[in-house]
Amino acid sequence: MDVILFGPPGAGKGTQAAGVSEALGIPHVATGDIFRRHLRDGTELGELARRYMDAGQLVPDDVVVRIVATRLEEDDARGGVLFDGFPRTVAQAEKLADWLHEHGRRIDAVIDLDLADEVIVARLGGRRTCLSCGATYHVVANPPASEGVCDRCGGEVVQRDDDREETIRARLETYHRETAPVLAWLKDHARVHTVDAAQGIDQVRADILAALASDS
Ligand code: ADP
Ligand code: AMP
Repeated sequence: MDVILFGPPGAGKGTQAAGVSEALGIPHVATGDIFRRHLRDGTELGELARRYMDAGQLVPDDVVVRIVATRLEEDDARGGVLFDGFPRTVAQAEKLADWLHEHGRRIDAVIDLDLADEVIVARLGGRRTCLSCGATYHVVANPPASEGVCDRCGGEVVQRDDDREETIRARLETYHRETAPVLAWLKDHARVHTVDAAQGIDQVRADILAALASDS
């Protein structure tokens, strides 16, 4: 199954991805995580991506599409993928649909995590992220058991540079301008389930799994 976790930054895509990917038996592919790994490893791609990420802007489509295509060629991605943070433009969505079609696959389902802007700002401001594995926490809603230490891998949990107030506003603007229109495209090309992302983490997960079960 190929499934897209769609929604604004801070909607809870990363938080839900581990459980959903495990339940469906497909790998979680988050373009933001791929860029952050490159940044950490000091690659040329990481340096390029940093300029856009720090400004709350989107990395150019050709770069994003190339890294996703490379990821999709890996063995574990042959049976389907859970996309998180991709596609973020209509051009990316079209390229993805083309790639899947060429490989006898399609976008089987889209989960649209719906959340108001005020809640997004509070969530991103309190978000903390593991430098090693990318797991996300929240200072109030979902703190790690031991402050600053990742429950999953023991890595260091910090605030992302782009989770600071000024960048959060820029990312939201980018979302409304470039990514929100992708939802209409997805509705025309796949089955979209809208989930109320303002609920607690467990309820959101239950709603996502129920929506996906209704598809199969
Ligand atoms: P995204 O991947 O969509 O950008 P995250 O999964 O990183 O969003 O979530 C953003 C922040 O909101 C994180 O700090 C996370 O712990 C918190 N969060 C996620 N889901 C919920 C929820 N249902 N209720 C409260 N806080 C949440
Ligand atoms: P995320 O971790 O999904 O919040 O992404 C962090 C940042 O990485 C974004 O603000 C963008 O700068 C960049 N990015 C991630 N995914 C994409 C994408 N699909 N298209 C363009 N830029 C992206």
